[in-house]
Amino acid sequence: MKKGRIQRIVLVTGLMALCGAACFLAGKKLARAGQEGGNAETTTGNNQDVEGMETAAAGNQNPVGPGATGDSQNPEVPETVGDSQDPEIVEITAGSSQNPEALEAAAGNSQDVEAAESSDDSMRESMAAEPPLDTLEFGGDPADKDFYAVKLPDQIFERMQGKSYKKDCPIPRKDLRYLHILHKTLDGGTAEGELVCHKIIADDLLEIFKELYDKNYPIERMKLVDDYDADDEASMTDNNSSCFNYRTISNSSKISKHGLGIAVDINPLYNPYTKKVKGKRTVEPAAGEPYLDRDGDFPYQIDEDDLCYQLFTDHGFSWGGAWNSCKDYQHFELDGDKADKLQEKYK
Ligand SMILES: [Zn+2]
Repeated sequence: MKKGRIQRIVLVTGLMALCGAACFLAGKKLARAGQEGGNAETTTGNNQDVEGMETAAAGNQNPVGPGATGDSQNPEVPETVGDSQDPEIVEITAGSSQNPEALEAAAGNSQDVEAAESSDDSMRESMAAEPPLDTLEFGGDPADKDFYAVKLPDQIFERMQGKSYKKDCPIPRKDLRYLHILHKTLDGGTAEGELVCHKIIADDLLEIFKELYDKNYPIERMKLVDDYDADDEASMTDNNSSCFNYRTISNSSKISKHGLGIAVDINPLYNPYTKKVKGKRTVEPAAGEPYLDRDGDFPYQIDEDDLCYQLFTDHGFSWGGAWNSCKDYQHFELDGDKADKLQEKYK
């Protein structure tokens, strides 16, 4: 061989060797790269598993979170509903709040609850036909929910203790009746009235007050005299109509007809009691003095043309405005045998 050819062969062989070595190295590198990729995938898989665990952990937290939130929100809302006397109020409050958190805040806010109760009260006041005591609770007829008489419920009897029903009161509780009525006010509105009387006039009073109501006869106020601590002057000054109040007649041991529960005072401020004692005129209530002039032009005035006078006298009552020794324009009391027997029993 020629030297030049030998050199080329060596060169080509060297190149081929280099090329092979390069290919070998490249294959090794690719193989390592493949291993690293596998490792990477495995690592990725491991990462995914960790993320999965984290998600699971978050999933575990989430049930705790909403659960806790649910525990704190849900019971509070129904409790508030349960506490409210008028579910409609709460429904309106709940309906106006689209955000549960806001609802929770509202439910937990005592001022909002008070506001709801306040609305409840004002709604109740405007619903004058609703009796202050549940008729059905005392065995009354639902058809007579506006005008009814029942034996004294415990809460009424308790309300009277030491006031209209004093310690030495000989009238047994079983002989007294609690009356619920409706009456018209001067502005044409309807108001609820309550009154305690003796059972022998309960039906008469229901009939009388029903007719006064139907004929739009105005009575300003009718609540138990116990709300004035049985202070008759205070009750009369407030123009409060009332019946039973256990007491004896002034300067006497004789029980008054109010003490027996068989006398009724109507619109007393405008129909005062007056008597001349030794030339000096007394007026009860004192604030009723302007209304002693029975020719004056003022509301609630009772005279013999008055519907109240006509109905009471039709039912066997006499009117204090017709008396001679004194005038008691507000006063109607039962006369006749029944009244006499009762007075005889407790004299
Ligand atoms: Zn009277």
